[in-house]
This record gives sequence, C-alpha cells and structure tokens, in this order.
Amino acid sequence: MTKEHIKLIDLDSQLSPIRHDIDEAIRKVLDHGQYIMGPEVRQLEQQLCDYTGAQHCITVANGSDALQIALMALDVKPGDFVFVPSFTFTATAECILVLGATPVFVDVDENSFNLCPADLERKILALSKEQEAERLKAIIAVDLFGLPADYTSLQTIADQYSLRLIADAAQSFGGASGNGQKVGTLADITTTSFFPAKPLGCFGDGGAILTDCPLLNETIRSIRVHGKGQNKYDNVRVGLNSRLDTIQAAILLEKLKLLDQEIQRRNRIASRYSRELGSGFKAQANALSALNAFAQYTLVCENREETIRNLEKQNIPYAIYYPKPMHLQPAYGQYGHGAGSLPVSEELSRKVISIPVHAYLSDSEQTAILEALSSSR
Ligand SMILES: *Cc1c(COP(=O)(O)O)cnc(C)c1O
Repeated sequence: MTKEHIKLIDLDSQLSPIRHDIDEAIRKVLDHGQYIMGPEVRQLEQQLCDYTGAQHCITVANGSDALQIALMALDVKPGDFVFVPSFTFTATAECILVLGATPVFVDVDENSFNLCPADLERKILALSKEQEAERLKAIIAVDLFGLPADYTSLQTIADQYSLRLIADAAQSFGGASGNGQKVGTLADITTTSFFPAKPLGCFGDGGAILTDCPLLNETIRSIRVHGKGQNKYDNVRVGLNSRLDTIQAAILLEKLKLLDQEIQRRNRIASRYSRELGSGFKAQANALSALNAFAQYTLVCENREETIRNLEKQNIPYAIYYPKPMHLQPAYGQYGHGAGSLPVSEELSRKVISIPVHAYLSDSEQTAILEALSSSR
C-alpha cells in the first residue's frame, strides 16, 4: 500500500477479516426481528460488564445521551454547577447546558491534556465562596484521546467537596488505570460512545453507561425509556428515548473481540512514534502509566503551520482536535471568562495535531508519517 492511501481511521481494513461474522450477526437479528431491545442488547451489556469489571452496564443511543442521562440520574438541574475541562469535544459541555445547569470550565494539564486536579480545586474553592455547597453537583473528567484521567486525585477532590465524579470515556473504552483497573470502573459513573471512529465503534450511533451503583443503574434504565416505572406506560420521571439498536449491539459483540488486540497494536505504533519523533514535537504524556486506548495520537507542535504543510505535501491525513476550547465557543463562552482565562487549553488548541495511529497502519506507513514529520524540522 502506498502512502497515498494512509487513513486517519481505517474501518475498511478492520472490517474485511470479520465481514462474514458481521453479516451473520446482522442476519440473525433480521431472522428474530427483535430490532428494539433484542437479546443482543442484554448480551452486550453483560459482556461489557465482564470486560470492564463494572457491576452494571446500560447501553444507550449515543455517547452524548450517555452523558446527559448520567447528569439526569444525578438530578442535575437549573441552578446546579458541573465542572468540566475546556479542552474537550463539545458534547462534554453541551450536556450540562441542555439540562439548564451551568458548566464551570477548568483548565487541563499541559502534559496529559486531561483535567488538571489543581485547577479543579481552585475553581471549586472560588465557586464555593459565592454558591451554596449543594449547588456544586458534579465533575465530568474526560479521558482525552484515550488516556485515562488522574482518577485517584480527582476522586479525592470529589469526596472532599461532596461532588459526584463522571468519567467521559468516549475515547478510552478498553483502557485502564496504572494499576490495571479498567475504564468503566474508575468513577461513580462512566459514559462511553460507540461512534464508528471510537476505539470500540459500531456502524452507526451508540453509547453506554457503566456504574457499580444499583440505584443509579435502576434510574438510568428508567430514563433510557421515557422515565418508565413498572412498564413504559407508567412514567415515574421525565426521561428520553435513548436505546441502542439491536443491530448495533450485534455488531459490537463482534467488534469487542478485536478490541484488546487493536489497542495493543495502537500502543506499539505509539511507542514507535514516541521513540523516533524528532525535536519540535511533544507527545501527550502518560505519567501515571495508564493503558491508553489511543483513540488519537496527539502531538504539541512547535510550528503547526509548517507541520501541516509537510503532512499535506506527503498526503498524510491529520486532524486538529480541538481547534477551539469550550470556554471560547460562541455557544458556551458566556459561562467562561474569555481569552487568557484557561491558558493551557488555549495553547493546546493552537498547537496540537493528531496523526494516524489506527491498528491497521503498516510499518512503511508509520515510517512515511515519521519522515513527513521530520521534514518539519
Ligand atoms: C465522541 C465523544 C462524545 C460523544 O459521543 P457521540 O456518540 O458522538 O454522541 C462525548 N465526549 C467525547 C470526549 C467524545 O469524544
């Protein structure tokens, strides 16, 4: 394969060896016809519990709903505050505003790119002076690009100020903390996404929520189907329609079999990049030795314009995640404190670039990517 064909995410190469199994899995759903909440949905929830070690898994329609439902289950409402990193994908902040609550944007760590515990504590203390303690509800940590956040430090802060901790693991499913605890068990509630490009992706939209708490499990299952009580015509709370389709569950059962192997391959490629990258770049740092699911391999560039020119010259695909931090977004800016207020998030938005790290990248493609980057110097 020539470098003209390098892809940022390669779903075709992933599919071809398992195409037959996927076709069979879909055919079985068409045969039994239980398109909504069919047996594959329960089977997938059980397997995701077994895989992560979480007590409960509730599949939902997508990762954004997973976040919103997690906040609804914690009774987040207008007047409440939720702490969230500014350097993340839109959905992490949006779910707070959809519920009429207020996001408090927190800066990220310049090395891990994840929520900075010290800045989190500063923001909590500052807000505690103006607001009643019970209005400060939750923290959403994001495992950016696949790297689990520093949950030990974050949980300590959450406990100290009586806040609930949600892990937005849309990019890190399959990862683990430094002591081997799987993503899905690192916070009170973990949410994830099965959007096709995520480490565990389906062929459409999908998501899941994981928790060890039986009460939250029950509440989340109710919210997923219109706030159902004893049955769906008994509505005990306001909920949503947010179920995972049976066909997507059937596809995910097949894709789950590949996940560990793919994450190992992504880690091998990432190690090679980190070893062979020249000066002028700084990769996301993993000081806590977590298992990174490597949804993306992301670098801080000294000169991003020049790096982009060199990659484009060699037809190497790249992406900029994320070009604008949440506190500077037109839709959310009124909840922040403007340019200069969260300097690390702002600097990363100006300097980061993500390069291909998918599991089907050949050695020669990796070499081509490294060469294109080294011509930047
Ligand atoms: C993808 C993503 C989401 C949203 O997931 P969807 O399934 O696309 O709704 C939320 N948070 C983060 C960090 C993501 O990367």
